[in-house]
Amino acid sequence: MNANATRLSPAQIIDGKATALAIREELKSSSERLTELGQKPGLAVVLVGEDPASQVYVRNKDRAAEAAGFHVETIRLAAETSQAELTAQIHALNENPAIHGILVQLPLPKGGDLNERETVRAISPDKDVDGLHPENVARLVMGEEGFVPCTPAGCIELLDRYGISIEGKHAVVIGRSMLVGKPIAQLLLARNATVSMCHSRTADLAGHCQQADIVIAAVGVAGLVRGDWVKPGAAVLDVGINRGEDGKLCGDVAYDEVLEQAGALTPVPGGVGPMTIAMLLRNTALSAARAAGVEL
Ligand code: NAP
Repeated sequence: MNANATRLSPAQIIDGKATALAIREELKSSSERLTELGQKPGLAVVLVGEDPASQVYVRNKDRAAEAAGFHVETIRLAAETSQAELTAQIHALNENPAIHGILVQLPLPKGGDLNERETVRAISPDKDVDGLHPENVARLVMGEEGFVPCTPAGCIELLDRYGISIEGKHAVVIGRSMLVGKPIAQLLLARNATVSMCHSRTADLAGHCQQADIVIAAVGVAGLVRGDWVKPGAAVLDVGINRGEDGKLCGDVAYDEVLEQAGALTPVPGGVGPMTIAMLLRNTALSAARAAGVEL
């Protein structure tokens, strides 16, 4: 795709669902190989409390990991669990050789003494497959091997698998959260893009986007990115998950408008979203491969 070309036809739809399924199939073979080497990938998912959305996310992660042939341990703790109990549980998982990846489903219940920062820091950086431990954040910034947060990793994977080159391109990332915006910007920078980070205080957000070869929207505002914000032929990745006025899921991008301008575009649902679990599984397999002393 030539990001500088004048648009002649609608954007290529980047199919995150199909891409995620393909990666999950690939991971099945990796899992078989690692199991033969005595390191069956093991994922522990810790759920504290009974938040319905978190229960759905945890179930989806468990099922995907089991389908890929991983060993899965789901630890359900009461909402009243203390930080000391949660930390002790995490430390036990850190020591468990059958577990290569630990994920604590966030957010944690409010009202008690549970603290998300302390919880994330309790996870061994070498099993932190969500990539949220400060050690992994530092490794990402320093260009060292570590775990990259799953949604940002999924964005880069989609660009790569759709042959959208990053080097030398101007990428505009809208959103600067620790979970999505900042790690995406670091990953793009590491791949030699020129990166502009935009946020709620950015002056002339539309003007910044119009300069971009790659736009990544990670905001949480339905339809924020309009068709005339997008340079003809640009690649647009929509990370946002919102409910539109019609009650349907939608992203941060005005899809129909941007479709006419962009060179490539992710839909919501079915774009970036499914990649998150695929990348969680890949990080877990990567951790098992490190334990086995082999390349994934
Ligand atoms: P967040 O922590 O709320 O951060 C939102 C960012 O957007 C902030 O940096 C904020 O700027 C910026 N922002 C808010 N309104 C803006 C505006 N009008 N113009 C420009 N920037 C604006 O959210 P997040 O956790 O990064 O998530 C972002 C979106 O991605 C959400 O819709 C979330 O549901 C979705 N998400 C999807 C996945 C997935 O798997 N696909 C995973 C995680 C998140 P300030 O910093 O100035 O406040």
